[in-house]
Amino acid sequence: MSIYTGPVFEMARTQFHRIADHLAIPADERDRLLYPKRAIAVSCPIHRDDGTTAVFQGYRVQHHLTLGPTKGGTRFAPSVDIGEVGALAVWMSWKCALAGLPYGGAKGGVTVDPRSLSRHELEALSRRYMQEMIPFVGPHTDVMAPDMGTNEQIMAWFMDTYSMYQGQTVMEIVTGKPVAVGGTLGRKEATGRGVAYLVERAMGRLGVPMAGATAIVQGFGNVGSVTVASLADRGVKLIGVSDHTACYADPRGLDVSALLQHVDKAGILAGFSTEALADPAGLLARPCDILVPAAMERVIDAAMAKRLQCRVLAEAANGPTTPDADEVLEQRPEIFVLPDILCNAGGVIVSYFEWVQDLQQFFWDEAEVTDRLYRVLQRAFAQVMERAGREGVSHRTAAMAIGVQKVRDAKQARGLFP
Ligand code: GLU
Repeated sequence: MSIYTGPVFEMARTQFHRIADHLAIPADERDRLLYPKRAIAVSCPIHRDDGTTAVFQGYRVQHHLTLGPTKGGTRFAPSVDIGEVGALAVWMSWKCALAGLPYGGAKGGVTVDPRSLSRHELEALSRRYMQEMIPFVGPHTDVMAPDMGTNEQIMAWFMDTYSMYQGQTVMEIVTGKPVAVGGTLGRKEATGRGVAYLVERAMGRLGVPMAGATAIVQGFGNVGSVTVASLADRGVKLIGVSDHTACYADPRGLDVSALLQHVDKAGILAGFSTEALADPAGLLARPCDILVPAAMERVIDAAMAKRLQCRVLAEAANGPTTPDADEVLEQRPEIFVLPDILCNAGGVIVSYFEWVQDLQQFFWDEAEVTDRLYRVLQRAFAQVMERAGREGVSHRTAAMAIGVQKVRDAKQARGLFP
């Protein structure tokens, strides 16, 4: 028994054992690779605006420290529990290793709907969470970043809180910060830009032009919205989109700049249009060239995988596709899967660039950031394609095999202490 229970960790475990079988990793080596090194649970009390005290549960899971500090986002969402955070930390490890970054994976979170807090309460919770984490994190131990429900402002509060306790500014404790306080140009856009870049690579392999291709995007947070904008820049037509407040579809194409302007002002999709309203349950199964789940994990199960009508499945979210759905997709070679640990790696890759710039206090221009991002993604994409082709396995199996193998090699080289 471990503390990592629930369907999301179960999914990470099943995926890992499939890869371990593929790599013929002996049973006695598996727990060392799968189970996180450390997990921290904290209670975060804050004063609410009405004078009462509220306590929120927070977590941080550090998967392995074999290759350097751990790295990963902090999620503020009602779904957060230790199993979900643990799974997300494990996935971060394979993602960082695939991209060749000198990190293990981590993830943190607070069980809260951030929309239920005032700005003042959100600041109090963010600062208290970081304060509780001070004994466990550090620029060479564990470096946080944004994830679902957190943003640049929260990263600035994290950085400020950590720095106030250290008595000096420590920019490199957190990535995804505003540029004004040591953030890098191009970080906010990195994940979505990376998704669009990889979709273009995938479509190139299929021989389908981007201009005029159709896309459906589920989720309109930072990743979903930048993906939509980056795909539109490449001439792709957006025919369906949703967030937690609304779902719109129109086979003739939605007006992307009007949509982005609306969300810029309103913060949510609701209120954009009355004509294009659609049923969110059927969104993923609509016919399109490019399908981008950019919201929650486990939205594509086996039943949904059978219904998909896309050419490219670009997993911008972490863990959107269940292992059962993977079995279905392996029988559907007409769908080109860009697995999450490759597809959404742009975020952590540019987080790495931010950390490097902060450590050196030497900052790059945006073109340099984006150019380096694409080079790292291109290398990872080529490795996944080559391995999938050579071993006759799915893109997910190939991507995960590369990630798991790198961590395993590092553990073997370092040995077991003492
Ligand atoms: N939360 C993002 C992810 O899941 C980014 C992590 C980071 O930048 O460290 O990949």
